[in-house]
Amino acid sequence: MAQILLAIEGLTVSFDGFKAVDDLNLYIEEKELRVIIGPNGAGKTTVLDLICGKTKATSGSIKFKDSELTKLPEYKLVQLGVGRKFQTPSIYENLTVFENLEISYPKGRNVFGALRFKRDDVVLNKIHEIADMIFLTELLEIQSGLLSHGQKQWLEIGMLLIQDPELLMLDEPVAGMSVVEREKTAELLNKIAKGRSLIVIEHDMEFVKQIAHRVSVLHQGKLLAEGSMESVQANPKVIEVYLGH
Ligand code: ADP
Ligand code: MG
Repeated sequence: MAQILLAIEGLTVSFDGFKAVDDLNLYIEEKELRVIIGPNGAGKTTVLDLICGKTKATSGSIKFKDSELTKLPEYKLVQLGVGRKFQTPSIYENLTVFENLEISYPKGRNVFGALRFKRDDVVLNKIHEIADMIFLTELLEIQSGLLSHGQKQWLEIGMLLIQDPELLMLDEPVAGMSVVEREKTAELLNKIAKGRSLIVIEHDMEFVKQIAHRVSVLHQGKLLAEGSMESVQANPKVIEVYLGH
């Protein structure tokens, strides 16, 4: 059986008495690509906020390998290997693609003096490897502000990948993308999931079909259904609250 990377149990957050996430259990395996779907306001983004430490849980547990994430500050989670991409891309538009990737390389791995050249080689190789993965090899010297919306999204995914997270979370990554960009993003996410776990929130069911291994459906902060794309799509409760609309 595959190892569990992330175990969420009894997770609850209340905002002034309103439970945006309500007694949620969720288990993500190593190198799993999990898709979370559900109607607007279901609590999907809040779950990612809780995992990455942006929002503090009211109760419950989020275990990542051997660490209890609810007890750790946000910066520690990044060091542990939790990466999160928000809905709007946060790249440096006045820097080139190369520079954006370069500044995202973890500073903690810096080495000094005579080893400096070695580090430069390692970083350079990594930048090229990531650029290839995110379809931006030809555009490394382009100013990032000139990229298409989809290319900016890929660059931001690349900026997270270069930090080598074990768990990567993406909130609606294909929103606003063209059909071709969506297809390439599906290809990219399937490639990423070969080496790390991914949690993807997405509304576009055509896209979800291309990437989904297992789907969790959230509704009113609770897990409504979980399973294969086929089983979830055939679930009457899911059709009623989400897919039927
Ligand atoms: P989704 O991403 O599934 O559309 P969200 O997680 O963004 O849903 O929101 C779930 C619910 O929690 C919504 O009703 C939203 O208004 C509420 N909510 C989210 N964050 C906060 C907050 N910081 N303060 C108060 N209410 C919030
Ligand atoms: Mg959301």
